[in-house]
Amino acid sequence: CGIVGYVGKRDSLDFLMSGLRRLEYRGYDSAGVALHDKAQVYKCRSVGRIADLATALEKQPGIAGTLGIGHTRWATHGPATEPNAHPHVGGDNLVTLVHNGVIENFQILKEELIAKGYHFQSDTDSEVIAHLIAEGLKNSSPSETDRYAHYLAAVQQAVAKLRGTYGLAILFKDEPELLIAARFGSPLVIGVGRGEHFVASDASPLAGHTDRIVYLADHQIAMLTPDSMTVTHREQGRVRLDVQPLEVGE
Ligand code: GLU
Repeated sequence: CGIVGYVGKRDSLDFLMSGLRRLEYRGYDSAGVALHDKAQVYKCRSVGRIADLATALEKQPGIAGTLGIGHTRWATHGPATEPNAHPHVGGDNLVTLVHNGVIENFQILKEELIAKGYHFQSDTDSEVIAHLIAEGLKNSSPSETDRYAHYLAAVQQAVAKLRGTYGLAILFKDEPELLIAARFGSPLVIGVGRGEHFVASDASPLAGHTDRIVYLADHQIAMLTPDSMTVTHREQGRVRLDVQPLEVGE
């Protein structure tokens, strides 16, 4: 029900946890984070409140990373259990993502992916998206001139198959400086910092971190690294960024 993300030079965990707390008002039944420390992707999830996630994190003291995503879940597909809590992974942990929204055609997509050999670890509609992106990576070949084009193509292929609503924050095991955000029907805001970018479901987690924001529109995908941001639209291609001031009190 709420998403946060960070890519930059600092450790992301404080922003992720404070951001999830600021999104608590939206309601949720479980929460989780994933962090990339340039060597590996850590994941921690918990049923219950952010305080319960904080307790679970205390049992994983080494968890850190300059790239991270977080989620509060309002269960729509599958009960509120730890395996159903986000983040979800796809394609042998190549892809890790959080999702807000509902994928209406997930059952048929799931059957197709199972037939292709993908293993599911949850009952959620969201896990389908993680495996679809992994499948997209297989179907698109890396470009020598644009290292991230391959990942954008994989996400574009995956979301083109979805019927329903999604706000997504995605990271990849092989790319410790890349955060992708995509939306259709679920709100997402990007915060533009100095040497860092933030993602959140609404502007409240961004206050105090940056005063420049970009609202992502439907069918847009944002490619974020510490020092760059590009947004593409399904039909319009590369989009000119409309950076707005973050009003205090927003
Ligand atoms: N449909 C997804 C699930 O049940 C996402 C729910 C949400 O938006 O929190 O896990």
